[in-house]
Amino acid sequence: MAYTRSVSKEPLSDAIQHYLREIYKLAQQRSPVSVTALAQAQGVSAASASAMVKKLAALGLAEHAPYRGCTLTPAGERVALEVIRHHRLLELYLAETLGVHVDDVHDEADRLEHVISEELEARIDRALGFPTHDPHGDPIPDANLEWPLGSGRASSR
Ligand SMILES: [Zn+2]
Ligand SMILES: [Zn+2]
Repeated sequence: MAYTRSVSKEPLSDAIQHYLREIYKLAQQRSPVSVTALAQAQGVSAASASAMVKKLAALGLAEHAPYRGCTLTPAGERVALEVIRHHRLLELYLAETLGVHVDDVHDEADRLEHVISEELEARIDRALGFPTHDPHGDPIPDANLEWPLGSGRASSR
């Protein structure tokens, strides 16, 4: 899947992808997601979170209702799921294949998730035997961006 590139003509920035992932996760607890909650989760000021939400809305990735919060559009949701899939597959690959300590895989995956090709994603998936969970126990969306059956959907990391 190549949604991280297909929505706009240019690749979406790492920051945009991180925000979409965070909104997706927060929305599972409470939707719409307040800009305050989003700012806290991302460790940024409310002003920067608000500016980003406007940008996401302009890109057609989120919808924003003043004083209520934001929700992802279907396009934004697909990007979020794609990033979560890359992130969790990479975490598992780093831990299982390269022996990276489980405490360190998150930060590494946070960078690599934006640059791997779709072919590499598929190869990692196959090499790991099409895994359903990352080393933290969180579910991995499959190649169709569906959650594995019986999973509690997206979790903390
Ligand atoms: Zn992680
Ligand atoms: Zn990242």
